[in-house]
Amino acid sequence: MQEKDDKKSAYKLATRAVREGQVRSAEGEHAEPIFLTSSYVFKSAADAAARFSGEQAGNIYSRFTNPTVRTFEERLAAMEEGESCVATATGMSAILAACMGLLSAGDHVVAGRDLFGSTIILFNKILTKFGLSFTYVDSADTAQWEDAIQANTKMLFLETPSNPLCNVSDISAVAKIAHDNSALLVVDNTFCTPVLQQPLKLGADVVVHSSTKYIDGQGRTMGGAVVGDKKLVGEDVFAFLRSAGPTLSPFNAWVQLKGLETLTVRMQAHSQYALEIASWLESQPAVERVFYPDLPSHPQHDLAQRQQTAAAGVLAFQVKGGRDEAWQVIDSTELFSITANLGDTKSTITHPATTTHGRLTNEERQEMGVLDNLLRLSIGLEDVDDLKKDLQRGLDQL
Ligand SMILES: *Cc1c(COP(=O)(O)O)cnc(C)c1O
Repeated sequence: MQEKDDKKSAYKLATRAVREGQVRSAEGEHAEPIFLTSSYVFKSAADAAARFSGEQAGNIYSRFTNPTVRTFEERLAAMEEGESCVATATGMSAILAACMGLLSAGDHVVAGRDLFGSTIILFNKILTKFGLSFTYVDSADTAQWEDAIQANTKMLFLETPSNPLCNVSDISAVAKIAHDNSALLVVDNTFCTPVLQQPLKLGADVVVHSSTKYIDGQGRTMGGAVVGDKKLVGEDVFAFLRSAGPTLSPFNAWVQLKGLETLTVRMQAHSQYALEIASWLESQPAVERVFYPDLPSHPQHDLAQRQQTAAAGVLAFQVKGGRDEAWQVIDSTELFSITANLGDTKSTITHPATTTHGRLTNEERQEMGVLDNLLRLSIGLEDVDDLKKDLQRGLDQL
């Protein structure tokens, strides 16, 4: 867990992404070193006692103190403009740590219906066993958040833009509802990253990340993070990590802190390429509808323009027809990887109805708008013309 100084960084986001959090060792290395060590040596018995009691700051054991992990935490905290960051082994363990650190048995949570699939399963199948209850709302409809509040509501949990339909929720408006009802707003910022959207500045209390996605950016390592203030994250979430141990490995922290260094330019490129592909898809006769927040046809286009500096690399579209036509587009690609992962330099194509959303009932999918003719793309960093040609092959056959 890393806490920033009270003073805010004097540097702009791209500079923070490259420079924040590094502490150069006596060797004078230019790039950050990896500290692959589980424990640390103390100078004396008194020194060890002072560290363990918390009287003296410093490393104790890598389950909760490691210099490489700390550099990653400090850098991400600076980019989100939060006081504290706790890095975790995966995005799911970041969400688990936020819930375990901030909620107690009997508490109620209001969450968006279109959250990442494993988040819904964690909530419904695991956390309900420990006395938490959940109500789901249409996340883009601000009034539904308000209506779902109960006397015991302690947390509102939001993901924007959502997956796969790119619905955009008004973070400031939902934060106000949370605070008017003495609840916290947690935002999963995996899709936009702090480069495109900073939920804490819009009023959210806590941000969670799957750093497996854009922060790694090249599909190599798993990781996650929780960012917020010194009390909520620096004490409450950190206390869970320290004792329960869903810790980010120092090696993965190193890969991902180097990922942060290129995140600014990568997010701009992913967004630019995705917008080009989304606009082009809208002009294709075999395409029925395209979902991407930066398109003027998107229902929350104005809100997205205000809230995000660009729309990231994920978009969805419906082909004319049903499952067979959607599968034909997938099976005609040679370049797109057929996989559900996203946020990679390699572009991916997915059929949500039979993969990521396959465990839902047909009615649940209809209600969410995840129809059989829907495809989801995560646009990587290949040449846009090559990606268009790859999709054109299947679309021309429909
Ligand atoms: C992938 C993802 C997660 C879960 O992260 P893992 O690193 O796979 O555990 C959570 N939220 C969103 C939005 C994701 O895309």
